[in-house]
Formats: sequence, structure tokens, C-alpha cells
Amino acid sequence: LVRLAAVNKHFGELHVLQDINLEVDRGEVIVVIGPSGSGKSTLCRAINRLETIDDGVIELDGQPLPQEGKALARLRSDVGMVFQSFNLFAHKTILENVTLGPIKVRKLKKAAANEEAMALLDRVGVANQAHKMPAQLSGGQQQRVAIARALAMKPKVILFDEPTSALDPEMVNEVLDVMVSLAKEGMTMIVVTHEMGFARKAADRVVFMADGQIVEEADPESFFTNPQSERARDFLGKIL
Ligand code: ATP
Ligand code: MG
Repeated sequence: LVRLAAVNKHFGELHVLQDINLEVDRGEVIVVIGPSGSGKSTLCRAINRLETIDDGVIELDGQPLPQEGKALARLRSDVGMVFQSFNLFAHKTILENVTLGPIKVRKLKKAAANEEAMALLDRVGVANQAHKMPAQLSGGQQQRVAIARALAMKPKVILFDEPTSALDPEMVNEVLDVMVSLAKEGMTMIVVTHEMGFARKAADRVVFMADGQIVEEADPESFFTNPQSERARDFLGKIL
């Protein structure tokens, strides 16, 4: 579904993505881990075309990512994104946060968008918050709204960039539980996270990045119990 081949990206002198090759099948859940600055966010942003790449190809469904115009807008709905800092629209209600995209991009009527949105808010457990403003919700609730908002666009794949790292510890699991159930339902997901419980429960593959390179790829059990590279052993020693 998503394919990156020989992708390179520089920020000035800094070679942030070095010859990245990665294929993600439909329904697959990939966890990306690695030290700070290794290029994990840049990788996600490139797949959503929030960043350009210098060379190589990124394909979604066999098509190179569009560069502009309507096709780019469609890409943004095909590739959902959930960020560390929930990024909800502060001056819109929870319900409006979820219906905005479907009304604008999918051209749904307001009533239909509301109905879909309420079903999604129910699915992530915050339907009773629909008429509140984002600031009235806890971080964990806001992040679940952000997931509902991504789902409302009917994406082919959702990218999660450290979705729980800004949360108070007691709220981490309520967000991870929603992500695990999405994974079980067959959503294609690329998840940057250091939550090993999530990786073990939901990931098909762990991709370990360091210094802009994919150093190691393995199933979660082998990666966490028997990392092959010195870099991965060193990193796991620090986070475990
Ligand atoms: P973290 O775990 O801290 O989120 P990361 O693996 O997500 O790190 P990136 O955010 O992808 O790392 O950054 C990779 C490198 O690129 C870092 O050295 C960062 O400082 C640099 N970088 C990221 N965005 C830009 C930018 N817009 N301009 C210049 N340098 C950037
Ligand atoms: Mg990052």
C-alpha cells in the first residue's frame, strides 16, 4: 500500500533520510522507533507530503505521491495523521473538529457528517463530549478526538507520530487501547512510538531508525528480545 524506494532527504548539510526503503502492506501495522533526531517524524511527514524529498520514490497504492492541487488534497485525506500535540481546532467544538474535513473535502452534507462523526466519537469513547470545546477535554480525550478526526476522512493509512508522548501517564492507555482496536480491525498504521506494550500487542513489524537510516527491521518479539545491531541494543538499553 505504501512503498518508499531509495528515498533521500537533506536539511542543508544534514542527511535526515538516507536511502530509505520500506514497504507497508494493506492492514499492516509498523512501529517505528529510534533515538531523537533519527528522522522518524521526517519520514512520516514525507509520506504525507508535508515534506518534499530530494530523490527516490514514495508511492501510495502504486501511484507516486502527487505534488500539488486536488490530488494533493486527496492524498491528505488518504493518509491520516495524528500528532504528538493533538492539534485540534481550538475554536471549534469536538463535533465540528471531526465534521470539518468530511464536509469540506468529502462534500458530505452536515447531517450526514454529524451522524458519521457521532459514530466515530462513540467508537473512541468520547461521544458525550461532542459539544464541548477542545480545552475542556483531557489530553487523552483530545487525542482520541484527533484519531476520530483522522478516521472521518476514511484514510487508507494513518500515521501516528508519538501520539502518547505528550500525555500524562494515566491517559496513555486509553489512547493506546483505541489504537490497538484499530489495528485489530485491519487499519494500515505507521506508528512512531516507544511504547513497547503497543508494539508487542499490535505491530507486525518494528522498524528501528538511527541517523536517518533504517538499521533494523524485525517482528516485535525478536526485536525486543534479540536486537541484531549494536545501535538497537544500545537504544533499547536506554529506554527499557
Ligand atoms: P524525535 O524523536 O526527537 O521526534 P525524530 O526521529 O522524529 O526525533 P526528526 O524530527 O525527523 O527526528 O528530525 C531529524 C533531524 O532533522 C533532526 O536533526 C532535526 O533537527 C532535523 N530537522 C527536522 N526538521 C527540520 C527542518 N524543518 N529544518 C532543519 N532541520 C530539521
Ligand atoms: Mg519526531
